[in-house]
Amino acid sequence: MALQLLVAGGGIGGLASALALARGGHRVELFEQSAVFAEVGAGIQLGPNAVRRLHALGLAQALDTIAAKPDALVVRAASDDHELACLPLGDVAVRRYGAPYCCVHRADLHGVLLAAVRAQADVALNHPARLVQIEHSDDVVTVAADGARAWEGDALIGADGLWSAVRAELDVPGPAPQPTGHTAWRGLLSQAALPLAQRSTQVRVWLGDRLHALVYPVRGGELLNVVVLAEAAPTGDARDWDQSTSLDALQRATGRCCTTLQGYLSAVPTWRAWTLHDRAPLTGPGQMTHERIALLGDAAHPMLPYLAQGAGMAIEDAVALAEALRSVDSDGVPEALRRYANARWQRNARVQARARRNAQIFHAAGPLRMARDLAMRTLGARLLDQPWLYAH
Ligand code: FAD
Repeated sequence: MALQLLVAGGGIGGLASALALARGGHRVELFEQSAVFAEVGAGIQLGPNAVRRLHALGLAQALDTIAAKPDALVVRAASDDHELACLPLGDVAVRRYGAPYCCVHRADLHGVLLAAVRAQADVALNHPARLVQIEHSDDVVTVAADGARAWEGDALIGADGLWSAVRAELDVPGPAPQPTGHTAWRGLLSQAALPLAQRSTQVRVWLGDRLHALVYPVRGGELLNVVVLAEAAPTGDARDWDQSTSLDALQRATGRCCTTLQGYLSAVPTWRAWTLHDRAPLTGPGQMTHERIALLGDAAHPMLPYLAQGAGMAIEDAVALAEALRSVDSDGVPEALRRYANARWQRNARVQARARRNAQIFHAAGPLRMARDLAMRTLGARLLDQPWLYAH
C-alpha cells in the first residue's frame, strides 16, 4: 500500500531515504531548510557496505561517473612517514565484498542522489522549508514549515542531522550532541597541479600524537581531499560545518608533520574547519523511533568520522527503513518503524563505539602508540580490514 511519508532533511540521509521509499511505492514529501539543495564539505569515503546499497538503489552507473576507486589504504607514521600497514582495495574489495571501496566529493554524491530523487514522480521536494512544528496522534503526523501550510503523513522521518528538530520534538532519551574537542581541517587539491610524486590513487593515512591526517582522491581522481583530524579546540561557531581557517591555525594546534604530509598541507589553497560532535552510542531501539516518527542518520546517531561511516550508516538506515515499510498499511506503520529501529540500532551503536575507540588508537602516544605500531606492522591488512562492517 502506498503511504504518505514526510522526510525532514535533504542531506545524504534524507535524499537516500526519499529515494528508497519512493522506489518502494510510497509518496514522499521532503523538507529541506536551505534555499538550495547542496552539501558543504569535501570528501567522503564509502565502504563496500554503503556502495552495495547505492547500487541496489539503481545508482551504480551514476556513482561510477563521480567516484574514485582507490587501489589501497596505506597507513604511515606522521612523524617520519614510515609505512605501518597496507590494505589492498580496488578489485580485492570487489571480490571480497561485492562492491568497490569508493571515495567521492560530498557534493557529487549529493548531486547523484538529488537527480535520482528528482526523477521520482512521487517525491515532492519542498525548500526552503524548515520544519518548526510537529504534531502526532495515533493515526497521523502533521508538520508545519516556518509557519507555512501544514502537511499530513502516515509517518515522519527525521533525517535532519546533528541538531535534529524532529529528535527534539520526540523527546527521545539521551543527552544532546557533545562537543568532542576534535576539529576537522579540510581542503582540496587539484591532482593536475601537483608534481607527479604527489599525485595519488590511494587512501593515505598518517597517524600522529593527538591527530591523524588523510589524503585521498575524489571526483573520479581529479581532486585530492586533504583532511586533518586533531584534538584541538574548536576554531569558530561550533554549529558551522564550514568555518574559515588557515594552515597556521591548524599547525599552532598540531605542530608540523613529516615532509611528505607537510607537502600536501602546504599545497592546500583554502582551509575550512569543522567542529566535531557526537553522541554516546545508542542503547536501544527507542532512541530511533516513537509511534509514527523515526530518526535516521546523524539525527539518530552522530559519530566521529574515525571509521568513515556516518553517511554509510545513513544510507544503510534508508534502505532498512524502506524494507521495513514495504507492503505496510497505515495502521501497521508504528510496528514497521519499530522493526526498522530493531534492525538498525545495534549496528549503529557498534559503529559509533568503534569510531570513538579509533580516536584513541589513531591518536595514541607513548606505550599505546608503540603497541599499536607493532600490531600494525605485524598484522597489516588483517588489522585494517573490517569484514564485520563491509560485508554487512
Ligand atoms: P546532514 O548531512 O546533517 O543533513 C541534514 C539536513 O537536514 C541538512 O541538509 C539540513 O539543512 C537539514 N535540516 C536540518 N534541520 C532541518 C529542519 N528543521 N527542517 C528542514 N531541514 C532541516 N561519513 C562517511 O560515511 N564517510 C566519510 O568519509 C565521512 N567523513 C566525514 C568527515 C568529516 C570531517 C565529518 C564531520 C563527517 C564525515 N562523515 C563521513 C559523516 C557524514 O558526513 C555524516 O554522517 C552525514 O553527512 C550525515 O548525513 P545526514 O543526512 O544524516 O545529516
